[in-house]
Amino acid sequence: MKQELTKIVKPIVNWYQSQEKTLPWKQDKEPYHVWVSEIMLQQTRIEAVRKYYARFMQELPTIQDLANVSEEKLLKLWEGLGYYSRARNLKKAAIQIENDYQGKMPTSYLELLKLSGIGEYTAGAIASISYQEKVPAVDGNVLRVISRVLASKEDVLLPETKRKITKKLLEIMPEEAGDFNEGLMELGEKICIPNTTPLCEKCPIKEFCIAKKENLTTKLPIRIKKQKRKIEKRTVFIFKYKEKIAIRKREKTGILANLYEFPNILRRNI
Ligand code: SF4
Repeated sequence: MKQELTKIVKPIVNWYQSQEKTLPWKQDKEPYHVWVSEIMLQQTRIEAVRKYYARFMQELPTIQDLANVSEEKLLKLWEGLGYYSRARNLKKAAIQIENDYQGKMPTSYLELLKLSGIGEYTAGAIASISYQEKVPAVDGNVLRVISRVLASKEDVLLPETKRKITKKLLEIMPEEAGDFNEGLMELGEKICIPNTTPLCEKCPIKEFCIAKKENLTTKLPIRIKKQKRKIEKRTVFIFKYKEKIAIRKREKTGILANLYEFPNILRRNI
């Protein structure tokens, strides 16, 4: 298995290095830029992130600016991106960097993991892209590519599968760790695409891909969904007096914490 995967390293690195880097956060490997872009890209499409990223960097060009920004301004910069805890965690981590790391981004995977809101994927992305540390950064794209290359029948939604793939990648990480990780992610975004037939003819690793050989590309990866999303029905009140409309602040914790909304109540049995 390790042998199979070793073969994909060089073609992925070469392919990634030959790709044009048009996205603003790919123009340099500055850790602050990699960090903010990776957090914004979680749950958000690349095209939507472009304008948010540009505005964020214009308003908060340094970690110090982020540490000192008011919550109101921060949330305004994030407005529309959703998952606001990401923005709050960015600020918390920036304060940690100011207090514990003399204002400089930590330079190792393990130290990065100590920062608020930075999990294994983001720590791996920053450590490999900015510092060339040989650690994987396994997101959904990477899981899909590797599952197809190995024709793995394991459920990619299980943490155990992710752990196994991370371990396999750790064994084959090259010196060009950042380019390899970014290459895998980009291959998943552009060529080894989800929910449809991947563009195998354009793929730089097609000769090593078992799913392609065995005609399994549209059947993999395996994703077994367990829980249905919880749906709440609410009655929303609009209280209007002349030009004024009543809004209220949400709870300090939970979904959309501290943001504003129209007064509403849960609907029961309707
Ligand atoms: S050959 Fe096809 S299925 Fe295999 S990694 Fe490339 S794009 Fe994905």
